[in-house]
Amino acid sequence: MKCAFGVDVGGTAIKIGLIGADGSIQMKWEIPTRVDDTGSEVLPDIASFVRKRREELGDSYEIVGLGLGVPGPVDDTGMVLTSVNLHWKAPLDAAGILSELLGGLPVAVVNDANAAALGEAWKGAAAGCSDVVMITLGTGVGGGVIHAGKVVTGVNGAAGEIGHLCVNPKEVVSCNCGRCGCLEQYASATGVVRLAREALGASQKQSMLRDGPITAKTIWDAVKAGDVLATQVAEQFGFYLGWGLALAAGVINPEVFVIGGGMSRAGDVILPYIEKNYRVMALSASAHAKVCLATLGNDAGMIGASRMILETYS
Ligand code: ZN
Repeated sequence: MKCAFGVDVGGTAIKIGLIGADGSIQMKWEIPTRVDDTGSEVLPDIASFVRKRREELGDSYEIVGLGLGVPGPVDDTGMVLTSVNLHWKAPLDAAGILSELLGGLPVAVVNDANAAALGEAWKGAAAGCSDVVMITLGTGVGGGVIHAGKVVTGVNGAAGEIGHLCVNPKEVVSCNCGRCGCLEQYASATGVVRLAREALGASQKQSMLRDGPITAKTIWDAVKAGDVLATQVAEQFGFYLGWGLALAAGVINPEVFVIGGGMSRAGDVILPYIEKNYRVMALSASAHAKVCLATLGNDAGMIGASRMILETYS
């Protein structure tokens, strides 16, 4: 069977999968991300791991290439412009370098959030859909846009940065990007914790959240239990995320929004809060887009990264 390696480089671990031309995971592994001052170990580590696996596998698979998902903007020529997590400060031709280390094996590079979107659009929650927006709710809010089955990168790799759409011009607290009022400040795991702390400070109301640590998980557990104050936080979360999706829909008009990332593990409880706001704020032609949870979990990135190669070589 034709296969490709799909590699998802994170700040602490690198996930590597051998993915079949049909998107099936044949094997998968994980190695630590060794990040020194310049991040110069990352690509050689991947190359040395992949070389060993190819030797072991022999001719049992026809390996056509490697797709690499990285945390940072990747332009439409495959150049990684920078990666804060990997300490890559200058534009890097990661595909060229890795291909050379692997004896000329074809390599394609994609931003990690875009890789996850591509994975979900190929084999996950949006399988069979050509126009998809994925939003990843984690420590921050990531985004990826698939149009006509392809990743939209923009000229500087900054397309799909839905987490940094401004949804509150009056905000005075700074986002990680240096501006104020980004969607990420309200819809990330960190964001909902901030909203919960503000709500607790502004009210004397009884709440389960006063009893222990406040995390995205304890907030959504409290929402499920009918806690009034937590539900108020969920309403704020849904308002801002619904607004962000409506802004995105005004440009992209997707068939489906896929919600992934750590906070999506709270489950279906988060969807009505997003949907009811989205449907009111989106233009009527876009308002019926599906809003659903991601299904591939942590495998989405490596599956999507492999797709970059498999769509060309299989
Ligand atoms: Zn921002």
